[in-house]
Amino acid sequence: MLRGSAALLRRLAPHVSGGGCGNTTHRRLPAPIASFLHARFLSAPTTSSSPSSSSSAFGHDEEAEDRELPEISNGDAGASLSISVDRSGLYNPPEHSHEPSSDSELVKHIKSIIKFRSGPISIAEYMEEVLTNPQSGFYINRDVFGESGDFITSPEVSQMFGEMIGVWAMCLLEQMGKPAKVNLIELGPGRGTLLADLLRASAKFVDFTKALSINLVECSPTLQKIQYNTLKCEDEPVDDGKRTVSKLCGAPVCWHASLEQVPSGSPTIIIAHEFYDALPIHQFQKASRGWCEKMVDLAEDSSFRFVLSPHPTPSLIYLAKRCGWASSEELEKIEHIEVCPKAMELTEQIADRISSDGGGALIIDYGKNGIVSDSLQAIRKHKFVDILDDPGSADLSAYVDFASIKHSAEEASDDISVHGPMTQSQFLGSLGINFRVEALLQNCTEEQAESLRTGYWRLVGDGEAPFWEGPEDQTPIGMGTRYLAMAIVNKKQGTPIPFE
Ligand code: SAH
Repeated sequence: MLRGSAALLRRLAPHVSGGGCGNTTHRRLPAPIASFLHARFLSAPTTSSSPSSSSSAFGHDEEAEDRELPEISNGDAGASLSISVDRSGLYNPPEHSHEPSSDSELVKHIKSIIKFRSGPISIAEYMEEVLTNPQSGFYINRDVFGESGDFITSPEVSQMFGEMIGVWAMCLLEQMGKPAKVNLIELGPGRGTLLADLLRASAKFVDFTKALSINLVECSPTLQKIQYNTLKCEDEPVDDGKRTVSKLCGAPVCWHASLEQVPSGSPTIIIAHEFYDALPIHQFQKASRGWCEKMVDLAEDSSFRFVLSPHPTPSLIYLAKRCGWASSEELEKIEHIEVCPKAMELTEQIADRISSDGGGALIIDYGKNGIVSDSLQAIRKHKFVDILDDPGSADLSAYVDFASIKHSAEEASDDISVHGPMTQSQFLGSLGINFRVEALLQNCTEEQAESLRTGYWRLVGDGEAPFWEGPEDQTPIGMGTRYLAMAIVNKKQGTPIPFE
């Protein structure tokens, strides 16, 4: 239970690092934010989560398995070709059995890839199969969000999160010169909650809603359906078939499997909240023979285990690229490195698009402004579990390397600028979340007030909520400093709010 009083919220203000709670921040809000907040929020209030230590199974350098490559000889020249294969170093599967296996379809599939390759697969390949395998990946067939799911995200914590992203988007729109067409792209929209709250918040800004085309990048058919419902979509007949429209704002909505498939040519606002952390990472470890890639292999008993690759792997090229952006002091201290080529590639696409079409991107995720060492974690039903345990039944995610995003964007285009990262607490505080929560608290039930205060703490607080009086295991944990916000914008638009 929370103590119920709006005054409590103000007392919490000093705990919110850099968030700018309290009236002083209000007086300092930049004019566009203040006018947006007044117009939309302050007048008419409406109320409508230790990395896994699963790497314990990890084989050290000595345990790296030296797999002999098959030897291929072509016998006497000109004579019939004879091929001999040395199988001594290959994985030796257990006796063939007709006993039904308790392995899930996904586990069987990953095991078959390792057997077919006769060698381990990278953690990136394992992660990609686990999360987005089209038949049985973690995200594909279920709603994984919320208290009854596996984890909870900021938009699910409070409507205020999507609303504040709406404030950011409106301010960016002003800086873009209010174009007649705007392509609003969300990468990995989950249940669609962030976007629904953003659209409700911006409903009065007809310049925005009229200009909008909404494009959602989502790999999960199940989540696409949930997004369709959350955005109150309806199909409308048009000359050449049908189009889907969100009744929240009247804008057309389309779904795509990747950013590349989203049509370009209009000024663009891209939102990526907790998307980058789901992109597959490669892990490297410093060994006596140099940097080695950590891989997923099968043990004698046919369970998964980690090994170090005995040979150089193609992804070393990305390790070299990432290390090229690091200082020698940063590299000296590090024994493990995570590298995310998909994040580099995606960022390059974002930078290219923004430089040609105008607009900007907002990336919010948990991570570091520097090299990430060993952060891969698995979460099932709100608990950390072993990364290799029953793949497909738990979320896998890794800290986002914001420095790598910045370098990737800057290398891709001279026409963009990168801002931040700043903490989520600073970001939401500067956009005026404390005034929004106070406005909402003036017109709600005691139950809604408790939920608002807990949600507010989770979004902007740091560590355990000091005001919590309920069960200890349910203490709200602040995401305010663990989550970071970064913007990539077209240089023509100047510095985006609130990164000045
Ligand atoms: N942004 C949402 C959901 C974050 S979870 C929120 O904050 O609540 C990650 C989301 O990205 C899910 O919707 C998942 O299905 C989607 N996703 C993950 N990997 C993807 C990929 N490679 N391509 C497209 N969508 C992906």
